[in-house]
Amino acid sequence: MSLEKKDLAIGVDLGGTKLLVALISVDGKVIIELECKTSIHDADHISFTLINAITQLIDHVDRSRLRGIGVASAGVIDSKGKKIVYANNLGLENYPIGALLKGHFQLPVRVCNDANSAAIAEWIWGAGIGKRNLIYITVSTGIGAGIISDGKLINGIHDSAGEFGHITIVHKGERCGCGNRGCLEQYASGTALERLANQRLKSSTSLLHDLKTGTTVTNKEIALAAEKGDPFSISLLHEVGEYLGAGVTSLIHLFNTEAIVFGGGIMNMSEFILPTVEEYVRENSITQMSKGVVISKTVLGRRAGIMGASGLFFLHDESEPRMNV
Ligand SMILES: [Zn+2]
Repeated sequence: MSLEKKDLAIGVDLGGTKLLVALISVDGKVIIELECKTSIHDADHISFTLINAITQLIDHVDRSRLRGIGVASAGVIDSKGKKIVYANNLGLENYPIGALLKGHFQLPVRVCNDANSAAIAEWIWGAGIGKRNLIYITVSTGIGAGIISDGKLINGIHDSAGEFGHITIVHKGERCGCGNRGCLEQYASGTALERLANQRLKSSTSLLHDLKTGTTVTNKEIALAAEKGDPFSISLLHEVGEYLGAGVTSLIHLFNTEAIVFGGGIMNMSEFILPTVEEYVRENSITQMSKGVVISKTVLGRRAGIMGASGLFFLHDESEPRMNV
């Protein structure tokens, strides 16, 4: 069977608490999807769960239609060596996922990090259809980005390009876990939002005093308070939007991109964040460069990771989105 007739790929999204596995077609349809719990710091259990879930999918399909298995994972990935070099939230180090899956299923395997896979998914099937320049930004516990520039995914020499959360946004600012100071992640991530809310809440009037169920407030409670019109929570989200806007302005100036797509857990509050991002960019960027740049929320949502993982097999000659096979 020619490659043209191989119209399916398996996508794997390996996260800290769960594993998503799906059978996906070249036109972006999720045919079957499975979700399993993962135990961190237990590579054997992760391997067992992974093989078991993929076996269930393969049993449903004519194997000759499969192009391969694409894996998206959090952490530092070696896409050429097909290894997870280091993934803190999975407790994995030098995990040879490519060799494991290829050895077991005798299918080609490709591996990339989760922000890159989401960027690929949005590029092929989501907010970036038909574009050659797109940057996907995920804002959750941390902040990361997948950058597609002139029709190519930018990986960098160590597969680490797109560490958008660790660009310096405040000179000599808060110390970050990466060793730098003033990283964007310290001001605009989910972790930062909770920290800022808890630091300021004691001396402020806010609905959060009533909504709070534990000793500290959570992002879920901040979202709820903002929806109820709480000025304290809304102002915090605007502040997050301003920091993200400053970061996005730099991205536009660096890459002259066409589209910025936001995803990640914090984007369930996008109505309070994205208008501020857009306003900041409009007021502070070089007009000629930001003109026509579309800033939007993910179209594919929680499925962007698995879809982009399978999308590693639907990219034409590794660089162009392949839409009509
Ligand atoms: Zn940092």
